[in-house]
Amino acid sequence: MRIYSGFLVHPLDKGGLEYIPDGALVVSDMGQIVFKGTRADALRDYTDIPEEQYDNAVILPGLVDTHVHLPQYEAAAIGTGELLDWLNTYIFPLEARFADEEYAHIQSQRFFHDAMRLGTTTMSVYCSSHRRATEIAFESAFHAGLRVCMGKTMMDYSAPENILSSAEQNINDSIALAKAWNGAGKGRLQYTLTPRFAGSCSRELLRKTGEVARIEGLRIQTHLSENPSELRYIAELFPEHTSYTDVYFAYGLLTEKTIMAHSIYLSSQEKSLLKAHHCAIAHCPCSNRFLQSGVMALRQMLNDGFRIGLGSDVAGGSSLSMLNEAKEAAESSKTWNIVHRGQEMPAINAEEALWLATLGGAQALGLEDVIGNFNAGKEADFIVCDMDEIMPHNSSFVLPENMISRLVYGAHPHVVSKTVVQGKEVYKRHRA
Ligand SMILES: [Zn+2]
Repeated sequence: MRIYSGFLVHPLDKGGLEYIPDGALVVSDMGQIVFKGTRADALRDYTDIPEEQYDNAVILPGLVDTHVHLPQYEAAAIGTGELLDWLNTYIFPLEARFADEEYAHIQSQRFFHDAMRLGTTTMSVYCSSHRRATEIAFESAFHAGLRVCMGKTMMDYSAPENILSSAEQNINDSIALAKAWNGAGKGRLQYTLTPRFAGSCSRELLRKTGEVARIEGLRIQTHLSENPSELRYIAELFPEHTSYTDVYFAYGLLTEKTIMAHSIYLSSQEKSLLKAHHCAIAHCPCSNRFLQSGVMALRQMLNDGFRIGLGSDVAGGSSLSMLNEAKEAAESSKTWNIVHRGQEMPAINAEEALWLATLGGAQALGLEDVIGNFNAGKEADFIVCDMDEIMPHNSSFVLPENMISRLVYGAHPHVVSKTVVQGKEVYKRHRA
């Protein structure tokens, strides 16, 4: 057992953050949180246990990235243009390189290491379209100690030949990978069926994906309603369907284990379909701006009752930092107000954005009973943020909400000094 003491920030199930300035977490040898409260109570009830005490630091639940592409990491912050051209110019050639096992290995290790350095403990990941590279990504995540939901990106048309495979091959590879990895690492690793989007999957592949998801009870992740030219493309490809969401509905891809990235331009009928099937949304504001895709009405979607997490969507998004993504979510909600004068809605503040990047992400991935805050019984995924980096002791603004605002808006690349998953330290910052 171990006691971790410092300034605890605990996202509440009903929304909002609880602050425990002289707080402590007690973590069992099995990696579970057995106590969350004041340090005084922890020291009284748990004696003779080693304690790690953090001064001028904030202890937060680990950050959750609900949508990210591992093979695109090398292209982060690179390129111009909108979605479909950007994919062809920058991304597909890069994803093709994952046929090379050594390259896949190096990139996977770097990707997971950098995510943990930035305080991410859970990720929902799209791998390349190669079965072997997906295995390598699982091996890397297993050894890194990270929590991931992940899958081979499935495509069987409308992309370069070297990253396509047949519908049957895609499904066989996915089933084999799921058998090998779903539930591995004491449940840390889970398999997610990953059809890229309706524009690169045949009707046969979409239908088989829906069938496998139903029979095997697997997760699904895909893209929905991201960019206006993508919407026109999907409407041309599927004239028999009333909407983009209806395509996924028809092939059985709308389930309570489905997470849809983006979902910017949804009609009320599409929202009803998603709600009826309890689908979650991965909101990726940094990517939505980088690729000039659009501005999602985040406040409206939250009011509509969607489960929403934040996604870096690297390399559409330019950084793996989920603190940066939280800032982007807050700023994007203000941008929505700027372009919809007269229909303004309350902007998302830093505390809400941090809630979305932690417990919101856990809920979107259906992991709220396992991670997302410090309720006793959950697994101990947390990070320590060194406030010396961004808010000195003598600051005039030491109120908790100001600390969180500074953490979200001033996300320093080295602010995270420690990252813990299932009670195990997976990253520790070393001073030069
Ligand atoms: Zn994406």
